[in-house]
Amino acid sequence: MKNNKPTDQPVISVHNLDHYFGEGELRKQVLFDINLEINRGEIVLMTGPSGSGKTTLLTLVSGLRSAQSGSLKILGKELCGASKKELVQARRNNGYIFQAHNLHKSLTAIQNVQMGLEVHGKYSRKEMKERAAKMLEQVGLGDHLHYYPNKLSGGQKQRVAIARALVSHPAIVLADEPTAALDSKSGRDVVNVMQKLAREQGSTILLVTHDDRILDIADRIVHLEDGKLVNNSRKKQEVA
Ligand code: ADP
Ligand code: MG
Repeated sequence: MKNNKPTDQPVISVHNLDHYFGEGELRKQVLFDINLEINRGEIVLMTGPSGSGKTTLLTLVSGLRSAQSGSLKILGKELCGASKKELVQARRNNGYIFQAHNLHKSLTAIQNVQMGLEVHGKYSRKEMKERAAKMLEQVGLGDHLHYYPNKLSGGQKQRVAIARALVSHPAIVLADEPTAALDSKSGRDVVNVMQKLAREQGSTILLVTHDDRILDIADRIVHLEDGKLVNNSRKKQEVA
């Protein structure tokens, strides 16, 4: 393993991953023997009914939740059994986009996007401002830098959230039903922007969706059912 260059290994590598919620009598298994490998630059969509474990899997991959059993390697680093500190480090590789945009109401668009850089602690104020402004231009909001979220439409807010997730050029972009609250045109715009930026930055995308209208952006679609991954190699040609 120690001689592996980063490019030799999948960006996300999940093996025999189980996950449980609760303790004692209430302990309930929600993920069963998940196996999934995702390479650099791949766009993978994950579908599945409500309650099938999609969000749980995404939060495990992101390091927002700690993996209990099996193996979960992100950029070659094992997260199963990782310390809190290692999880915090691992999260710096991700941009995470939530179903509800999760913007800070009291911050403007550009201030929200700057938050995506502050956790890294390596940029000056001026640099953060410049990078945030540039990223907002790239998502088509160059003339809305100083708007507060309540003055933006749903699609615009989600584009700010994408800018926040991508401004640090993360290796991995994780998105949990990012178009669920949007009309079909805004939903389309949002995924197009995400796809374009991720391609430019060489990011890997894992995106959870119920939205059939966006399946065509996928290189691969995986399906989760009752905590089990099925159809783990379906290519996008098979969707149509
Ligand atoms: P999905 O995102 O596919 O709708 P989730 O990952 O949110 O599914 O949930 C999978 C299962 O785990 C569901 O049965 C849900 O009720 C349960 N669950 C999710 N989060 C928790 C939690 N924090 N505590 C206990 N059970 C949970
Ligand atoms: Mg969910």
